[in-house]
Amino acid sequence: MIIKPKIRGYVCITAHPEGCAAHVQEQIDYVRSNGTIESGPKNVLIIGASTGYGLSTRIVSAFGCGAGTIGVFFERPSTKGRPATAGWYNSVAFERQAHEAGLYARSINGDAFSDEIKEQTIDLIKNGPGKVDLVIYSLASPRRTHPKTGETFRAVLKPVGRSFEAKTLDTDNNLVSDVSIEPASEEEVEATKRVMGGEDWEMWIDALTEAEVLVEGATTIAYSYIGPEVTWPVYKNGTIGGAKEHLENSARKIDALLRPKGGQAFISVNKAVVTQASSAIPVVPLYISILYKVMRQNGTHEGCIEQIYRLYDEHLFNGAEPVFDESGRMRLDDLEMLPEVQEAAKSLWVQVNTENLDEISDYTGYRQEFLKLFGFGIEGVDYGADLDPVLEFDD
Ligand code: NAD
Repeated sequence: MIIKPKIRGYVCITAHPEGCAAHVQEQIDYVRSNGTIESGPKNVLIIGASTGYGLSTRIVSAFGCGAGTIGVFFERPSTKGRPATAGWYNSVAFERQAHEAGLYARSINGDAFSDEIKEQTIDLIKNGPGKVDLVIYSLASPRRTHPKTGETFRAVLKPVGRSFEAKTLDTDNNLVSDVSIEPASEEEVEATKRVMGGEDWEMWIDALTEAEVLVEGATTIAYSYIGPEVTWPVYKNGTIGGAKEHLENSARKIDALLRPKGGQAFISVNKAVVTQASSAIPVVPLYISILYKVMRQNGTHEGCIEQIYRLYDEHLFNGAEPVFDESGRMRLDDLEMLPEVQEAAKSLWVQVNTENLDEISDYTGYRQEFLKLFGFGIEGVDYGADLDPVLEFDD
């Protein structure tokens, strides 16, 4: 079949297998051209490994450090002539490249929130690469079914306490419009914490510790975001911010558990990038379009792969001295949050409207990055080719 992008709101419901493979290859090439990372991890478990920050972490672990990787994700294979999701194609492509390079790489596709997937992962570690020394928690999900109670929680992206009015981007119609979001109810605040907070991360580390599949001195990191004041009502001070606060409390609890054995747990606050998760947050795509413009202009633009390479190279391994902020978090958003970057972004934010969107912001770049997430718009890929959408993992 010939696969074209089909965009519905903030998702693209098709994905291109060869385009996704090219996107993965681009990231592998970036890592290889930046050089090997010394004293990196040996075996890495990445929860949320198929797209965005998790995929880039898997790529840096494997191709920068030579690590074995286990990737857990929730993706849809191709069925009934429909293309698979991008994360499926990314992961097939990643595994093929890793195997070709002689690296251990296995994936588990299923609900990471469930006990079953935790058990499958533990079995795989026991029968596979050996104990894990680094666990990355990079899930972004709209819902979670609690494994003990069976209750399903749905996350919402809303302000807390009062309604919020701001500019936003209508990406279907390329319009800058005003959005007004009503505050979340108490149940919604709690549900978002249950989905995007740290309870599941704690459950993972408890299960892995109990099964004795972590090396002594293992590290675990969860990714978070803070961002600028224009997004605070719907991000930092909104329902998702409450969940991220919960995640930070979990980091402290897990750290206390791992410390006696020489291990550690912390949060890495990463910069805003175009991913499937960030495209769904009101206001954020407009901010990202402006941010990309400013950071590209001053030469500090980074996507997921550049961020994670820098996390490994400058903060975690390669003889780096880890640097934490006053709350014990690593700050990979340092360049985004520089006062001069934020001032420039703020001034463009005030001016931006539908007419000047392309001039004031890097909306073109935003759209290109968005399409790329699904394997579209990549140079060298033959989008007119008739291809089989079914791709399976190697045995
Ligand atoms: P993403 O949408 O690209 O990736 C989410 C991953 O989670 C995918 O691999 C998906 O398959 C997996 N997933 C979702 N539900 C699952 C489930 N039930 N079971 C198993 N896997 C599941 O998201 P992202 O933007 O890379 O976000 C990852 C983390 O990084 C989040 O914690 C996010 O807050 C954080 N972060 C994102 C940004 C940003 O701008 N995108 C910035 C800073 C931090």
